[in-house]
Amino acid sequence: MRLGVLALQGAFIEHEQALQRLGVDFTEIRQLADLEHEYTNKNCKLDGLIIPGGESTVQGKLLHDLELFQPIQELIQHDMPVFGTCAGLLLLAEKISNDERCHLATMHITAMRNAYGRQLGSFFTEAEFKGLGKIPMTFIRAPYITEVASDVEVLAEVNGKIVAARQGKQLVTAFHPELHNDQHYNDAVHAYFLQMINE
Ligand code: GLN
Repeated sequence: MRLGVLALQGAFIEHEQALQRLGVDFTEIRQLADLEHEYTNKNCKLDGLIIPGGESTVQGKLLHDLELFQPIQELIQHDMPVFGTCAGLLLLAEKISNDERCHLATMHITAMRNAYGRQLGSFFTEAEFKGLGKIPMTFIRAPYITEVASDVEVLAEVNGKIVAARQGKQLVTAFHPELHNDQHYNDAVHAYFLQMINE
């Protein structure tokens, strides 16, 4: 298995460390050439893509500037597995309730940016994630999901707000699972994504 990690901005290194702990091969996607390098005869060899947290507006702009937007959107539309955390969730959301912009818009969810307000910028909690039990969740100026279409499965809620969901081969979390590397937790959400890829 070989994954791409979108490495334009934000917390991509922490995802790479999680993949290293899980023994998964990956490559950084920083420019169009990095993606093109993964193609043989018009087929992309990547088994999936991780879109990290950071600033969705910055990553969205860079995707366009670097001409990565369309190829990545097409790969996801053609069922390449994708895992977006925080800003990555916003990049995948079809609609952002408090922003006119949307980005890749491949997932049938509406999300709210900075949904916990500027005061409660960051917090930690533990909550149930479907199939994984209780897991640690760190939120950093996080969004949450306000609406999901019928093809979206809700995987986790915190205080009645949806913070993780799945639609086909697309997985999103409003929190940052890549920031937890304690033995007990064992990179469970990344492992869940790998399992999704293998299904
Ligand atoms: N607030 C950021 C945004 O709107 C997301 C924060 C994060 O990824 N930790 O894109």
